[in-house]
Amino acid sequence: MKTLETILRNDTPHWVGDGFPVRSLFSYHGETAPISPFLLFDYAGPWNFEPVKGRPRGVGEHPHKGFETVTIVYDGEVSHRDSSGGGGTIGAGEVQWMTAGAGVLHEEFHSPGYSRTGGPFRMVQLWVNLPAKDKLTPAKYQAITRDMIPEVSFDGGRARIIAGEFGAGEFGGAEGPASTFTPINLWDVRLAAGAELTLPVPDGHTTMVAVLSGHVTIDGKGVGEAEIARLSRDGADVAVRADGDAMLLVMTGEPINEPVFGYGPFVMNTEAEIRQAIADFNSGRFGALAPA
Ligand code: MN
Repeated sequence: MKTLETILRNDTPHWVGDGFPVRSLFSYHGETAPISPFLLFDYAGPWNFEPVKGRPRGVGEHPHKGFETVTIVYDGEVSHRDSSGGGGTIGAGEVQWMTAGAGVLHEEFHSPGYSRTGGPFRMVQLWVNLPAKDKLTPAKYQAITRDMIPEVSFDGGRARIIAGEFGAGEFGGAEGPASTFTPINLWDVRLAAGAELTLPVPDGHTTMVAVLSGHVTIDGKGVGEAEIARLSRDGADVAVRADGDAMLLVMTGEPINEPVFGYGPFVMNTEAEIRQAIADFNSGRFGALAPA
């Protein structure tokens, strides 16, 4: 069994553009080895937006290079457009998996429809690192819709498998639709109050359980809303007890044992590569957004 190593939290929210009230529960600005292959976890919301006329709230054109952004929408809708020609709107229960790779420009706004109605908003943006050999892969975009995500039911809850695989035997097994560059599991797990579950997380992976709502007990310690339990890499499986109804995002990944050098929206291996990324961006080599 894995043990709980630390609980990550951040009580100082900030706004990303005017659309995303975010708590960064971990980021590459801190120690990167313990969280590898993950780089950053922004929990946006829960929030209630008033209807807006005119331009939707969000964040305008900006670059990324050297990693992937994974946006998981729980409430509300997010529209996206990028310089690889990717784009579209993702709604509740859907996921956008964008590979920035060699470089991409994109914008992230609330959808026009959601902007007009307003209402509850909740999403996660997770940054996943790329190994050095794949950092210059061409930018691409995976739109993962509700119907593509298999759901596994078990006593006291269910899990939607976005990436990787969930158990075999006892759970029947299910495989997520996301294509990843390194082995990653990403599961949207819902537990009913009192549920006790052994999550089939793999030995050797960086393993984190984000509590988006509710409260759970892991390895005898309480983990509450907007907190992430980081578990030991050693050991397979982790026992979770739901102290009330709980919404969890479980992420595991094989660590990438390479240097991380990041600056804002660029995450490379060395300072020289970051200087190159900034120069390329400034000289327009990231291309242009697809027409609206
Ligand atoms: Mn972005």
